[in-house]
Amino acid sequence: MKIFAERILLANGWAKQQTLTIEQGIIQSIESGEQAGAEKVGIVIPGMVNCHSHAFQRAFAGFSEQGSEGQDSFWTWRKIMYKFLGQLTAENAQVIATQLYIEMLKMGYTRVAEFHYLHHDINGRPYDKLATMASAIFDAAKSSGIGLTILPVLYRYSGFGQQAATEGQQRFINSSEQFNQLVTDCFNLSETYPNTNVGIAPHSLRAVDLASLNSAVEHVRALDEKAPIHIHIAEQQKEVDDCLAHYGKRPVQWLLDNTQMDKQWCLIHATHIDEQERKGIISSQAIAGICPTTEANLGDGIFPTTEFLAEKGTFAIGSDSHISVNPIEELRWLEYAQRLIKQQRAILATEQQMSVGQNLWQQAALGGAQSTNSNTGELAIGKQADLLVLDDEKLSLFAHDEQHLLDSVIFATQSNVIKHVMVNGCWVIKAGVHDEEQKAQLAFAEMLAKLSS
Ligand SMILES: [Zn+2]
Repeated sequence: MKIFAERILLANGWAKQQTLTIEQGIIQSIESGEQAGAEKVGIVIPGMVNCHSHAFQRAFAGFSEQGSEGQDSFWTWRKIMYKFLGQLTAENAQVIATQLYIEMLKMGYTRVAEFHYLHHDINGRPYDKLATMASAIFDAAKSSGIGLTILPVLYRYSGFGQQAATEGQQRFINSSEQFNQLVTDCFNLSETYPNTNVGIAPHSLRAVDLASLNSAVEHVRALDEKAPIHIHIAEQQKEVDDCLAHYGKRPVQWLLDNTQMDKQWCLIHATHIDEQERKGIISSQAIAGICPTTEANLGDGIFPTTEFLAEKGTFAIGSDSHISVNPIEELRWLEYAQRLIKQQRAILATEQQMSVGQNLWQQAALGGAQSTNSNTGELAIGKQADLLVLDDEKLSLFAHDEQHLLDSVIFATQSNVIKHVMVNGCWVIKAGVHDEEQKAQLAFAEMLAKLSS
């Protein structure tokens, strides 16, 4: 297949009038000028990777926004979440994930890291096939066409000091042996689903101990030495306080001291870190997985993005609870949170890349690719063809040149500007539409009506 782009954001910057030859999902060549048989498209940018998703949470986004005098918190939200997922079957999970992944594609996410922790049946018992719930996620990715990095979650305890799991957590819990078997099963499934890979996600320091963490890391690294390892790390101040009380160390510091963190690690919500921890993450080359809209929605706190990026830290973005499914909004809030704190403007740019929008899009896509160990994140020869075609009719209203294009997209768009989406060399969204979207929406609405009745 060949596509001819009027303007395209390549790894080394914007280029005009380029023909891309794509075979078996990979960009084989990029050449100046229009070639015969090439499909003409307008403005092309790399697809975004969503580094953090809990698919089932999409189904109750918006159901926990009723507060009274600021008493609501992350922990009351979690109660609602547990109640909701107590009823979810594997079929339900697939319906939700299919709907969600189509939404992601329409908004420009071409790959998702699914932090998957709903493992057992509604009574908390393992299915005969351990990976039944994981299969539902693989199926949803396949029918939507999104790239998938599945991260089975290791969840052992309800709190620091190996506290027994609560009733609401029974569906998450596995022994180390059972968990390692589940990971092996996911690797086997991945062989049969295109454009998927597998990592692990120790849920958080409160949910694992060092022995089970080590066992999981050792097992997954034996299967794939570059397998991604994601962990919720310091989302809430309470988590930091509990960690200090139990281990005498802050969460990120504990990780730095007790694991071999490397560039395959992604620290989700490294929100509450001190300067030493920040420098430790950067020197380990681990990624900070930031979820700005969820972190705002749950009242978590603000990651020190300005300092982290100034010191050349790597970050990725995720939609997490899916209160928003839109990479543009995540990046906008990433910058705006810093502006509000610092009382300055245009903060997350560099001397080499003065456009905040372009800098954030490119860095987030590359960090996302690293966080999923996928051959994506930029458009270059040898990379997977995961790309977005922007609607140049909408953009022509205000984005006259490349220098301002992604700033306009991120800070000034009022509607979806993504026209076509290609994943692994296949068009999955054309003119804003996914072939399966009506069917998926109907199934989602029917399921939601049943669950809420
Ligand atoms: Zn999460």
